Amino acid sequence: MDETEREAGRQLMRRCDQLARFSETPEHLTRRFLTEPYRAALDQVAAWMRGAGMEPHSDAAGNLIGRYEGQQPDKPVLLLGSHIDTVVGAGRYDGMLGVLAAIACVERMQATGYRPQHPVEVIVFGDEEGARFGVAMIGSRAFTGTLPTEWLDKTDASGMSLACALRAYGLAPDRLGAARRDPATLLAYLELHIEQGTRLEQAGLPVAAVTRISAVKRARLRLTGALGHAGTVAMSERRDALTGMAEVVLAVEALARRGACIATVGNVTAKPGAANVIAGHAEALLDIRAPENAALEAALAELTTTGQAIATRRGLSFTVETFYHAPSAAFAPGLVRLAQQALGPRGAAAPVLISAAGHDAAMLAPLVPSVMLFARCRGGISHAPEEEITAEDAAAAITAFSTLVDLVDRAGPAATV
Ligand SMILES: [Zn+2]
Repeated sequence: MDETEREAGRQLMRRCDQLARFSETPEHLTRRFLTEPYRAALDQVAAWMRGAGMEPHSDAAGNLIGRYEGQQPDKPVLLLGSHIDTVVGAGRYDGMLGVLAAIACVERMQATGYRPQHPVEVIVFGDEEGARFGVAMIGSRAFTGTLPTEWLDKTDASGMSLACALRAYGLAPDRLGAARRDPATLLAYLELHIEQGTRLEQAGLPVAAVTRISAVKRARLRLTGALGHAGTVAMSERRDALTGMAEVVLAVEALARRGACIATVGNVTAKPGAANVIAGHAEALLDIRAPENAALEAALAELTTTGQAIATRRGLSFTVETFYHAPSAAFAPGLVRLAQQALGPRGAAAPVLISAAGHDAAMLAPLVPSVMLFARCRGGISHAPEEEITAEDAAAAITAFSTLVDLVDRAGPAATV
């Protein structure tokens, strides 16, 4: 790595620090979509885009897009991006790393007057995290034309709807459809992101290619039994929904520990919910993930059967109601190969990563050939102020990402299948 590359890494770290100052609260970083700190951060990113020779504009959904002209303006666009909205109490690299590395890539071209074959566009997607309206990927869904219009009625904690927030920001909710980009105008979508896991730390490597994003389902598990007096109903005659749910929760964990899936029960409620009343009803919220859709369905089916067996044995009834589903997104094999090639000589030793977390790339991948690179982050910690990367890793990530951009640009559509 030469000094120019190292300095690009240091500059990225400084910019992440600068963006971290745009926060809704002074004590930690919170920057939700369409807030004033979000606008200020986006203005700063737009200024960096201008400095890199791009002319940025906002689309109808509030995505910021900067374009760097290629040798042939009518060729399909090589799209690079990520997000700069954050969760509440966030770190400073989740999303920002990808946006700033994409800009660094263009700066590198501009410094030498290099013009790629294809136009390069850097996109900052709005509301990837879903921290404000309870629904995620608003920007990338609008960009791909997959945003359900009823989401405009989703409200934030203060009761303000997405439609209202868009209007207050200066955007027209009824024009949201104009944000949709025809996939035929895009060559590929490339995204760099922090790993949010520890595989790279374990492998001792700064960057690796990602092959796919796991499928996710969220479901309400319900057990119904009979409420009763905590003192007078004999232990042998109880139909206690809460003890049944405790068994179901442990069955979820056992299934996941066997490797069938990744699963979490993050919340359990019991009714009536008093110390001296046997719970007649219990409800749990399940999040279940697997790399392939079929594996996820199989794990959920097994869980349903197990839950029903537990319920039958205890005289309860059991239901599973799915309320959220994101299918798995596979990246283009040709792009994954180029992403591994972009890692240089150490690429061969790099693990092939699967993302168990959702990203904007999951929205793009079904429509546009896409791939991601992950950069090492300390302890796999993210969505917390302790999120940390090193300047050396940032430099390695920019270099790998730039190389990937160059490889895809030169290879053209043939490489994206
Ligand atoms: Zn992210």
